[in-house]
Amino acid sequence: MSRTPGKMCRSTKRPRQLPVGEKRLYQWYSDWKILQFTCEHCGWAGKGEKAFPDEGGVLECPRCDRGVAYVQFPSLRDTEQAAAAGNEEAIQDLPKKREWIRRTEERMNRFESNHLHSLDQLPELDGESLEFTWDIAVHVGDEKEDYQIIRVGEREVWRELAFWDNILRFNEIKALLKQKYGPRFKSLTPTDGSLDFLTGDHYYKLQTLSWT
Ligand SMILES: [Zn+2]
Repeated sequence: MSRTPGKMCRSTKRPRQLPVGEKRLYQWYSDWKILQFTCEHCGWAGKGEKAFPDEGGVLECPRCDRGVAYVQFPSLRDTEQAAAAGNEEAIQDLPKKREWIRRTEERMNRFESNHLHSLDQLPELDGESLEFTWDIAVHVGDEKEDYQIIRVGEREVWRELAFWDNILRFNEIKALLKQKYGPRFKSLTPTDGSLDFLTGDHYYKLQTLSWT
């Protein structure tokens, strides 16, 4: 049987039905925490507050980690609007969120003015085979700052502000080390302690990363 194009798409008056398994997107300051969800994969059923949003906004089943819905993380504007409308959670979040944004901007500015970008910033080094380590120091000093530290042997070669989930920066620094030291560069290897920060706690990302 052949289809007749003119006869398609005529059912516009029928209310749209959600296909089985379609996951809804909830605004952060909505009622998703008290709504009931069911996991289509493992059968878990429970309130949204028992599930956990991952960093991409997928609300994960507490039993099997698969998505049961999506949540939209709030922008500063979303939080301000919800707080102005009397949402208790938003009212509590607002000062913390403003402080977090202020601190993030201030860190980004400090990073911009003091990060590795030129080969002149790197010291001359002896040795024919330079094996660097990518290390981290967290909560340093009164400021409780986090620093990425590049070493060769015991010697500190470079230090700059560290950011979470920062494989991009690892590759940038590796490229600068290669440019500076040429064929004497052998590797840049993350220490065990630096892996949480480097991968944003998603170790599978290491599969895409090369030390050399
Ligand atoms: Zn499940």
